[in-house]
Amino acid sequence: MNYTSTRDSALCTGASTAILTGIAPGGGLFVPQQFPQVDMREFYGLTYPQTAQKVLGMFLTDYDPDFLKTATEQTYSTENFGGKAGFAAHVAGNTYALELWHGPTCAFKDYALQLMPRLLVEAKKNLGETGVTKILVATSGDTGKAALAGYAGLPGIRIAVFYPNAGTSEVQRLQMATQEGDNVAVYAVNGNFDDAQTGVKRVFADEDLAQELAAKNEKLSSANSINWGRLVPQIVYYFYSYAQLAERGDIAPGAPVSFCVPTGNFGDILAGYYAKRMGLPVEKLICASNKNNVLTDFLTTGVYDARRTFYKTSSPSMDILVSSNLERLLYHVTQDAAAVAGWMRELAEHGHYTVPAEVLSAIRETFACGCANDAQVREEIRARYEADGYLCDTHTAVAFRVARQQAAGETPCVVLSTASPYKFPCDVLGALGADVPEDEFEAMRLLQEKTEVPAPASLAGLREKPVRFTQVVEKDGIRAAALAL
Ligand SMILES: *Cc1c(COP(=O)(O)O)cnc(C)c1O
Repeated sequence: MNYTSTRDSALCTGASTAILTGIAPGGGLFVPQQFPQVDMREFYGLTYPQTAQKVLGMFLTDYDPDFLKTATEQTYSTENFGGKAGFAAHVAGNTYALELWHGPTCAFKDYALQLMPRLLVEAKKNLGETGVTKILVATSGDTGKAALAGYAGLPGIRIAVFYPNAGTSEVQRLQMATQEGDNVAVYAVNGNFDDAQTGVKRVFADEDLAQELAAKNEKLSSANSINWGRLVPQIVYYFYSYAQLAERGDIAPGAPVSFCVPTGNFGDILAGYYAKRMGLPVEKLICASNKNNVLTDFLTTGVYDARRTFYKTSSPSMDILVSSNLERLLYHVTQDAAAVAGWMRELAEHGHYTVPAEVLSAIRETFACGCANDAQVREEIRARYEADGYLCDTHTAVAFRVARQQAAGETPCVVLSTASPYKFPCDVLGALGADVPEDEFEAMRLLQEKTEVPAPASLAGLREKPVRFTQVVEKDGIRAAALAL
């Protein structure tokens, strides 16, 4: 399988290079040149690691299959994912929750970020690279911790994470600030997530810095969801959850299913698009946004307009105005790198772009959309708990709400449940109508007492861990932090 760039279809390279470099020359994103075709029946009866091995093997053709086997077995082990990798719970009627938060940091990003470090180290081996790789990550909360946990202690790798100061939950902040390991650094950035992301992107584009680093045999790389190595592991759980429903008799084998995905950077839902293009029977992919509903507007009108108020919501991992992975969808739908490059230039220069009507209608054949504000999220958390006995976090609640508005009649709908309710204990407890204490750990305790749903040990134990990182930098300080790493 070869990869090209969303902004330059003359480019052609292998998976190892795509994963090691993260972003294509000229700022485009790496995309596969074809979609491998599968027969869903091949997936029935497979374990999660086997499913992962099969999907990864089709895309990462320059990786040794034995490596992929070992890596997927170790990553998605019972020890790491509590025996619940890709588990789809029945919620009510024909609605399911694909619980993606049984990994070490309690959010779905573990699926990619527990595996990607291994893919990166192997890519270096495949390409004969001996230098130090410096990973820079902009995070709205969950990515940072998941990346730190995945990369800590790996040879030849250093990682620095940048999160918006006061833009994360206290649990998220502590998860990052207490990270162990000699090869890690964590910074708060004065600004919101887009400031952090723009700051990091600017450092990646800085050629002087690249030269300075090259002289020391060092190179930058990204773990953000623009890296192909982040996306490809996320395709797996679409196949695995579908097979699970079919095997349980919840759906007839081959019947169409919709997936509703709480969306920020458009990575998770794009993985569902890949699964559909490969042959998974997907009816609709429903893009669920919070009050930062730039994607709802885009998928409704064809106008992407980032010139709008940025809201801090109770689902901070979706507080994003520039959804980077949308670029990949635009490329796959149009096959027109020049057009994509033009839209991205308009976005960078003027903050908006408009796609032609035929592009929008092609997208809408697969994608539905909707959004929910914080009050609706609170109602939804309470309704799912009281009516269905199902406790969900704020991000998942956005998707439940939108799924109820958008899911088509009889078609079963799988809601991607992206974080443990205990990552956002104050909001969840408040939504259930209880008095909310100042302290998030006390909220965790009260939530557990009220619902009898056990809190993950890795979260409950955070309070006792020593804080290692407290530094706050300006957006312009990211370059110096990268040099010092
Ligand atoms: C990152 C994240 C999302 C959004 O996923 P994207 O791939 O950025 O669209 C949703 N929910 C949670 C909990 C997340 O951490």
